[in-house]
Amino acid sequence: MKKNVLIVGAGGVAQVVAHKCAQNNDVLGDLHIASRTASKCDAIVQSVHDKSAMKVDGVFDTHALDATDVAAVSALIKSTQVQIVINVGSPFVNMSVLEACIQTGAAYMDTAIHEEPDKICETPPWYANYEWKRRQACKDAGVTAILGVGFDPGVVNAYARLAADEYLDTVESIDIVDINAGSHGRWFSTNFDPEINFREFTGTVYSWQNGAWQSNKMFEIGKEYDLPVVGKQKAYMTGHDEVHSLANRYPEADVRFWMGFGDHYINVFTVLNNLGLLSEQPVKTAEGLEVIPLKVVKAVLPDPSSLAPDYVGKTCIGDFVRGTKDGKPAEVFIYNVADHKEAYNEVGSQGISYTAGVPPVAAAMLIADGTWDIGEMANVEDLDPKPFLGLLAKIGLPTHIKDVNGERALSLA
Ligand code: NDP
Repeated sequence: MKKNVLIVGAGGVAQVVAHKCAQNNDVLGDLHIASRTASKCDAIVQSVHDKSAMKVDGVFDTHALDATDVAAVSALIKSTQVQIVINVGSPFVNMSVLEACIQTGAAYMDTAIHEEPDKICETPPWYANYEWKRRQACKDAGVTAILGVGFDPGVVNAYARLAADEYLDTVESIDIVDINAGSHGRWFSTNFDPEINFREFTGTVYSWQNGAWQSNKMFEIGKEYDLPVVGKQKAYMTGHDEVHSLANRYPEADVRFWMGFGDHYINVFTVLNNLGLLSEQPVKTAEGLEVIPLKVVKAVLPDPSSLAPDYVGKTCIGDFVRGTKDGKPAEVFIYNVADHKEAYNEVGSQGISYTAGVPPVAAAMLIADGTWDIGEMANVEDLDPKPFLGLLAKIGLPTHIKDVNGERALSLA
């Protein structure tokens, strides 16, 4: 049994994590939030109190923290006596926060793969470059580390495992589809950190097909999907974290990730990219000022968390998993639909932050009660998906299934 939670980061996803932890503080114990900009932590805790979100009276303290400083993160874990760390800071801080957890014995989780600021799109499988190198260290220290437990990566990994365990005898392909059919009303904005968002798309699109890594360019391969609630939507094959762990667990299957993009996003992205404004490498201005173009673009774009009040519409994210059942071809689509406005009304965030922020809290609750406190490193598909999906349905992200038997809510009875 573990309790007391430290949230690292104070962005859009952290806002959701904070509200959901508060709503479940009877299970999670004392709550702490720490980030580079302390005022953002204060604003999040204020919003928790404004919504009277704390289930029971308890601690919710804020702290200033440079999460790249392992000693500082370790000291905060010790002084606050937290046993669970939910890292929803920028992906640049993952390895230092994980190292602090290994040193202190706290359980660790994040929602995105580690990135080094001056590198994009490293050699596949991405998890082998940083996270999996710390697997033995986690095991030796008995530290539970759950990687990529947002929605995608995260819940979609659990959907793949559920399909393989419960609905199919053999798995031939896993196609993860992420459609945001919402509208934020701005001329242009990304839905989460623009720097991280663009970095996903400027490199090679890696997919796992025919038992090997395949390389494509962004927006090279598109496909129309007809999905529940959001209807017909164009999606493009995209590089994404979960492909790099699912390909390891299901090497016999093709594993691809598809994300929906409108023509406007593609136009803006193409112009910025072709001009060199999405580069992570520094350039010097005529005045001798060294700047990283991508960081300048981030600085002039809207803060994604500011989109929340005006966001309307729904997201549909899920897995088409194909294979065989009883010797015959079979396919199942396992998915969630989330509503931007409902997310805003509940926790003050838009739907993308909501779908990313609720899952790590479910995982924290499963670590708190021991169910997922495995004392080693795991990707989400390595863990039993049923308690996770069951808890998610109770705290805001229900799962639905579509197969030859029709569409229905997932029943775990
Ligand atoms: P934001 O950019 O809104 O927030 C990131 C936070 O991290 C900011 O508060 C930032 O501080 C803080 N931070 C950055 N560097 C440091 C540092 N050195 N020390 C302490 N704090 C730091 O991002 P989001 O909330 O949108 O996303 C958070 C994470 O969730 C990202 O890793 C993102 O990739 C991931 N994500 C995952 C999804 C999923 O479904 N799996 C979906 C969406 C996002 P400051 O405010 O000072 O800049």
